[in-house]
Amino acid sequence: MIGRISIASIDALLPQTQCTKCGYDGCRPYAEAIVQNTAEINRCVPGGPEVVAALSRSTGHPIQPVNPDLGTTLDTRMVAYIREPECIGCTKCIQVCPVDAIIGAAGFMHTILADDCSGCDLCVAACPVDCIDMIDSHKPRLPSPAEAEHWRTLHEHCLERQRHQTPLLPSVPPLGSKAKQVIAAALARSEIKKFLRDNPEPDHETERHRWLADKHILEEALKQAESGMSDGS
Ligand code: SF4
Ligand code: SF4
Ligand code: SF4
Repeated sequence: MIGRISIASIDALLPQTQCTKCGYDGCRPYAEAIVQNTAEINRCVPGGPEVVAALSRSTGHPIQPVNPDLGTTLDTRMVAYIREPECIGCTKCIQVCPVDAIIGAAGFMHTILADDCSGCDLCVAACPVDCIDMIDSHKPRLPSPAEAEHWRTLHEHCLERQRHQTPLLPSVPPLGSKAKQVIAAALARSEIKKFLRDNPEPDHETERHRWLADKHILEEALKQAESGMSDGS
């Protein structure tokens, strides 16, 4: 605590992009460091001068420019876009996304849920075939309170999922020869059953949105496997 300042009140001033550019594992760890007086208030790159000013008002520390060594503050928000034909389905992007905004199964192309993407750009460096672009969303750089809350909730769910080591999606084998297709289809059917058994349809709107997307991906994987079987390939 700095005086009577709480971690939650500092966290509430941060954009919840969860990009780690500040050098901490996310917005809340940075808020903790500020409250413990171990971090300067000018480390939030996406937040820019507005966030430095808000942090200055709360902490009493003087305003200073955002630390240029940590990155460049952009005028508008970016959103990730996967060039899907180039995606090899390695799932590395899913593993680093702090808000679980990427859907896909092992061996299948991946796609971004644009409404969930915070624009952190962590997936770009993780992609081994460089098929992710950050494109201008033309939205204001700083999120609305509702958007920030949405990303905070998604990040908390993501951390919870990682703590319990629950995969976002079961893995479905890639397409291949006819024999492999038969096996792939059988496994895909079993994975769908397992997914539905382990993941009952959620009530929460955000989780339901993702649940439907995940189910759709698995059903598409099954369709692809079954169509491969009937190709005679
Ligand atoms: S938005 Fe990124 S740089 Fe800013 S506090 Fe959160 S994790 Fe750190
Ligand atoms: S999709 Fe990429 S840019 Fe968007 S939140 Fe996830 S890791 Fe960050
Ligand atoms: S890291 Fe790149 S290649 Fe791998 S699944 Fe994600 S987008 Fe596709």
